[in-house]
Amino acid sequence: MNLEATQEEENQATLFVKASSLLSGNEAPEIYRGSAPFPDIKSLLNNFLGNERTEKVLDRYARLNNIDWSVSPTADSRVISYAERLLSEAIGPASAKIMISSVVQREELSRSEVLGILEESQKVLRLNRELSTRSEELRKATEDLRQANYKLQELTELKDEFLYTVTHELRTPLTAIRTQSELVHDDPEMPEEDRQRFIGNMVQDCERLTRLISNVLDLEKFESGSQKLSLNRVDLGQLIEDTVTQFQALAAKKGHSLRCEISAPLTATYADEDRIAQVLHNLIGNALKHARHDNGAVWITAYRLDQDLKVNIHDNGNGIPLSDRELVFDKFYQVRNQTRRKPSGSGLGLAISKNIIQMHKGKIWIEDNPGGGAKISFTLPLYLQEAQMKNSKPHIDA
Ligand code: ADP
Repeated sequence: MNLEATQEEENQATLFVKASSLLSGNEAPEIYRGSAPFPDIKSLLNNFLGNERTEKVLDRYARLNNIDWSVSPTADSRVISYAERLLSEAIGPASAKIMISSVVQREELSRSEVLGILEESQKVLRLNRELSTRSEELRKATEDLRQANYKLQELTELKDEFLYTVTHELRTPLTAIRTQSELVHDDPEMPEEDRQRFIGNMVQDCERLTRLISNVLDLEKFESGSQKLSLNRVDLGQLIEDTVTQFQALAAKKGHSLRCEISAPLTATYADEDRIAQVLHNLIGNALKHARHDNGAVWITAYRLDQDLKVNIHDNGNGIPLSDRELVFDKFYQVRNQTRRKPSGSGLGLAISKNIIQMHKGKIWIEDNPGGGAKISFTLPLYLQEAQMKNSKPHIDA
């Protein structure tokens, strides 16, 4: 640190000490202002504005006011005011005044001027504090906005991808149906066996199309809130048993075992029977699809847990990776997943199931299954009254 700076610091310190003692009314004013050596003013400006800007502003001032600094080594009060203004812009008015005071040749500063300086310093300090609070708020708002924008962009991309995949999924079976129907149409001599095979394929493709379209429409209705539940008292134990019975033929065809254990008695509750059946169909269908190929097994357990019915659908397949446990319920994720792996199915079943369970004020999740295989669980409140279920809306993830 050079001597000049130390001197300036000393002057500043003195100024503050004097100012505070003035405030307490103990001492006579000893602070001065008046003319100042031009080099001092210049070096002050150099310190805060930089050499280049200082040269520029002083040149301009000299030109406008017809001053030649080399023959006027003393800065008069006008030059001092000008320098003070320039400094104010850089370091605030109070500090500028103090810095200027440190180089002026002494002339007494009035007590009210000192009070003014102190008030101004406090004001600048307050403003600085406010400014930094505002800057922090602004920084946070900008960050929130950036996040929201990012999310919006991501959703738009996912929506595009969803539309693309749905369209693609529609086009594949449609093309297959068209090709096969043309083959059958153009070849009256086609062997009966081939004809039957093509027609069988076309029926399957039509079923796939119908399934996809009704799933997309279902999901849209749930998510827009236009889907209403048709509530009745439902014997859920019976519903599970009936659904399992419906799947026995498919399980047998695949060579899988399918059984269910229901701890009796399960109280009947208000629910939309068709919709809960849709959830069971989806979950049991998935379990049969993903169970081991040889010795595949699917089992369902249902019991009361406090005020809820808890249903678990287990299978002995590869299970669902931990990282996908939330995501498999997201229609967009599923579709994205589907584009990669192309499993059979619409990829919308779990998203629809989640909407249905949530409309019934229940929960659905993938449970840890140390034994391997997937274990999907859901709960339904058993003692809800009809009125409590009305106005149920599915939960839509932001
Ligand atoms: P999909 O029509 O593809 O079965 P779902 O929404 O029912 O659509 O399931 C979404 C995805 O979750 C499936 O594509 C599959 O990757 C995974 N999944 C669902 N159930 C199981 C299960 N029991 N075992 C392993 N993976 C499963």
